[in-house]
Amino acid sequence: MSLDHEEEIRNRTAARPSIITGAISVAAILLFVGTGSAVLSKTLQYYTSGTEPADRTLVIALLLNVALILFGWRRHHALSMEVQVRAAAEERAQHLASRDPLTGFLNRRSLAEEGAAMFARAQRRRKAMALIMLDLDHFKTINDMHGHAVGDALLRAVAAEIAHAMPPIALTARLGGDEFSCGFLFDPAEPSTIERIAERLVSRMAQPFEAEGLRLHISCSLGIARSDFDCASMDALTRSADIAMYQAKKAGRNRYAWFDQSMERELQVRNELESGLRLAIPRQEVVPYFEQQIDLSTGRLHGFEVLARWEHPTRGLISPELFIPIAEETGMIAELSLSIMRQSFIAARDWDPSLNLSINISPWQLRDAWLAQKIIKVLTETGFPASRLEVEITESSLFDNLALAQSIVGSLKNQGVHLALDDFGTGYSSLAHLRALPFDRIKIDKSFVMSLNESADSAAIVNAIISLGESLNLPITAEGVEDASIEERLRVLGCSKAQGWLYGRPLSVSAVRRLLAERRLLQGSPAPAEKKDAATSQRLVG
Ligand code: C2E
Ligand code: CA
Ligand code: CA
Repeated sequence: MSLDHEEEIRNRTAARPSIITGAISVAAILLFVGTGSAVLSKTLQYYTSGTEPADRTLVIALLLNVALILFGWRRHHALSMEVQVRAAAEERAQHLASRDPLTGFLNRRSLAEEGAAMFARAQRRRKAMALIMLDLDHFKTINDMHGHAVGDALLRAVAAEIAHAMPPIALTARLGGDEFSCGFLFDPAEPSTIERIAERLVSRMAQPFEAEGLRLHISCSLGIARSDFDCASMDALTRSADIAMYQAKKAGRNRYAWFDQSMERELQVRNELESGLRLAIPRQEVVPYFEQQIDLSTGRLHGFEVLARWEHPTRGLISPELFIPIAEETGMIAELSLSIMRQSFIAARDWDPSLNLSINISPWQLRDAWLAQKIIKVLTETGFPASRLEVEITESSLFDNLALAQSIVGSLKNQGVHLALDDFGTGYSSLAHLRALPFDRIKIDKSFVMSLNESADSAAIVNAIISLGESLNLPITAEGVEDASIEERLRVLGCSKAQGWLYGRPLSVSAVRRLLAERRLLQGSPAPAEKKDAATSQRLVG
């Protein structure tokens, strides 16, 4: 039974007694009017002039009448009270259904309704409607670190600041989690009003908040869309503001961005990549490429870093910088990574046993409690020795769930897998992080290595990382070695390994086989080259 139908039945049942009560009261009043005056005047005469008393039955009927009228009045009063209470309850229920209980703001559904009305109003009055989408940056960290009570208090404080920044007539909504939205009308000739509001919001959110006795630091990313620029409806306006908000996040957070059409096209490309990637992984179009890692003290080939490439049937070779973030956001990274591992372990089966492989593990994968077991399974199934595998993780992997990361890494290390800290120098570069996991090696980010000879700062950072490695007894790999002078400088500084374009671009499976065959680093007779591409290096698209 639908809710509306139920409601109707309830209303009808409530109305029935009130009709009966009404009918009884009307009848009683008519009777009273008919009999009351005769009985009363007779009774009055009996007491004053001693005439005949009124008929007893009529007196009883009159008393009954009075009782009925009283009953009717009381019942009427009770019923009207009930109607009032019910109306108030209904109003409250409607309020609750349209409001976010935490902040009192509109919820997603009621924003859509009230926004559509405002949108129509804007058109009628030759005004424009602005919609701001606001998302807090890294709010999850606050919730994880301080608990939900603090998170809720912060959301309430944020809501108060948003309400404060809005013009007098504005819609303010919380769409869920840490996502807020506000809409208001403005003069299309004066878009600077909106910019002022956006600037105020961004700068206020970057100031510390007091919540539950704590001082909390956050920031926010804003997307803004306006109804008079290519937005045909409230739905389109919401979507545009949303796209602009993601763009603000992508551009580095703590800022606002206006929607423009190029963002829509970018989103379309991204969606195409996403749906393409879904098919490409099982089809093994995403393949491993191999970048040489050289032992600086001997000049010997130590092994390879495995780098993913998408061999797209029409677009050519696609860079991991384009598709890894999509794989991470959509949860495809686990499948992608295991496929890359399987393909590279199979490729390396008959390589010289002195050669090792380094694999990149995304921070997202370290949320999977079964990651170690999955990697070990691929190692076992392909017969690649765990002792020849190194996993590279970045510092950001340590923020989410350190205990889980420690347990995953513990299981891998028990099997003999090595652990490297990738891109050191770009993140927090904290000593505490270096101690949090049993790293075997530090990799200096290529940005410092590439500018080693030109920038005194880079040289100082590379120097500092190498001495840190020495004192912690952790060997260092430098990536991004593009010329011999940098290689020489790194060798003098005591860096143990190097990789980069000086030694060649990353190689496909077949190109690596040829290289290893030339250097007699294949076990047994050289296997025939695979039919896949024969180029030793390829340009990436994207
Ligand atoms: P990364 O782990 O820091 O990898 C090193 C990147 O630097 C590679 O880019 C490599 O091609 C590039 N590179 C190496 N030597 C030089 C050099 O001398 N000069 C310059 N300019 N660049 C050099 P690539 O292959 O585009 O990979 C980009 C990033 O994508 C990697 O950065 C890594 O974070 C990620 N990635 C690649 N493959 C995988 C994968 O299988 N799984 C995961 N999770 N991430 C991957
Ligand atoms: Ca790496
Ligand atoms: Ca790196």
